[in-house]
Amino acid sequence: MKRVAIIGGGIAGLSAAYYLEKARKNGTALEWILFEKSERLGGVIRTEYRDGCILEAGPDSFLSIKPEAAELCRELGLGSEIIHSNDFQRKTYILAKGRLVPIPDGLQFMVPTRVWPMVGTRLFSLSTKLRMAREILGPTRNHDHDESVADFVRRHFGQEMVDRVAEPLLAGVYGGNASTLSVRAVLPRFVEMERENGSLVRATLKARKQAPKGPPQPLFTSLRRGMQELVDTIIASLPGSSLRLKQVGVSLRRVSNGWQVETSAGDMNFDAVILAIPAPFAGALLLNLIPEAATILAKIQYTSSAAVLLAYAKPDLPPGFGFLVPASEHKKMLACTFVHNKFSHRVREGTALLRCFFSSARMPELLNRREEDLKMFAREELKEILGLEAEPQFTLVFRWRYGLPQYETGHLERAAQVEAQLRQLPGMHLIGNSLYGIGVPDCIRSARQAVERLLRAE
Ligand SMILES: Cc1cc2nc3c(=O)[nH]c(=O)nc-3n(C[C@H](O)[C@H](O)[C@H](O)COP(=O)(O)OP(=O)(O)OC[C@H]3O[C@@H](n4cnc5c(N)ncnc54)[C@H](O)[C@@H]3O)c2cc1C
Repeated sequence: MKRVAIIGGGIAGLSAAYYLEKARKNGTALEWILFEKSERLGGVIRTEYRDGCILEAGPDSFLSIKPEAAELCRELGLGSEIIHSNDFQRKTYILAKGRLVPIPDGLQFMVPTRVWPMVGTRLFSLSTKLRMAREILGPTRNHDHDESVADFVRRHFGQEMVDRVAEPLLAGVYGGNASTLSVRAVLPRFVEMERENGSLVRATLKARKQAPKGPPQPLFTSLRRGMQELVDTIIASLPGSSLRLKQVGVSLRRVSNGWQVETSAGDMNFDAVILAIPAPFAGALLLNLIPEAATILAKIQYTSSAAVLLAYAKPDLPPGFGFLVPASEHKKMLACTFVHNKFSHRVREGTALLRCFFSSARMPELLNRREEDLKMFAREELKEILGLEAEPQFTLVFRWRYGLPQYETGHLERAAQVEAQLRQLPGMHLIGNSLYGIGVPDCIRSARQAVERLLRAE
């Protein structure tokens, strides 16, 4: 009988529990126990329901091109609950010199693929437009070393593309900074495109020609009643006796036949351990076992995040999914989602729901601020940007201390070092967002792969 401890009950730990339980029900001789520090499961996935609105405190959806989350939803019987973003409403604005300018049609992330929208847009100066046109001619390649997203984008399209597009887009996803994030870890597809073609414009146009014909896939996928539905359905499929909450101060010790998990309620022995907690916590648990890997993990920076949700009665707002705020605009907010357009059925008829995103990358004192301050910042900036002066029907604030890991330049090399060292600890697995992807599908994939490895091992 194999005994497995899972430490951490976010989506990664819960997915690991789900896949282990599935193997157990299919006849594999194993037992597992999940240890979660807090009083609830789900980690940063949390949905609240208020006045007919579905309010996401953490992720509101996942990228449709990464299949693992939707696959898990279907396995759990949630297939009919899967929904997609209203892509006919898909338009995102960038705040440029205090005005909202739509991202021009044909700009795929930062790669221009259509001429006229680029010529006509107010987002870029003439010199950036000329630079875009030249990119298709001049191959620019970097084979040897990792670099920041900002450096990579600047080589192709110049500083204005960094400031106006790459930096705010990355900040909206990672809550971080394009000048420190690793292009190889964060935008591997673009690195591949550069390696093969030199020009990103040429590579994107070629890929588009080769893509199968048919209607485009919706960009985002989610669940009708919010992301919490995934968490609740996983929990409902698991034996409650294996889920241990409020496990503060868990520590690990190597014993002759495996691992001892020490908790305030006593010690338990396991053959394998799955660590599903943010990298610095994993580093702390591994410090006495494998100091070098522990030190690398402890140094992975996480930004803290806050979502401020404000509901309004029928204000006059622009269409689209929302806007991004470049750092050069000197605002506190990084982005704002128009939830009533992106997922319209999550909002009561006649209500507009705005979700403003703040990060410690732009506001280092974020966690020390009072909720009232964050509400005030959101309202002040919405007034400046959208002219929105009305009193919201309600406002809610959610904050995450270890919100999003920052894969800084050289991240993949450090991740490989951690992995190589972890192999020296038989039965020890690290999953979640620490190393290979921050999205919900990435975390689910890491759990599934760890369980597969663990079941294969003697
Ligand atoms: C505000 C925000 C918005 C996001 N938006 C999106 C999005 O739209 N789409 C998307 O795909 N992704 C999004 N992400 C990223 C994604 O949600 C996360 O990367 C993912 O959910 C992390 O899951 P996890 O299980 O690895 O970690 P977590 O959710 O952080 O869970 C870790 C768990 O471990 C517990 N824990 C920590 N230390 C210990 C310990 N020592 N012992 C026991 N338990 C411990 C914690 O209490 C927590 O429950 C977002 C993240 C944030 C913060």
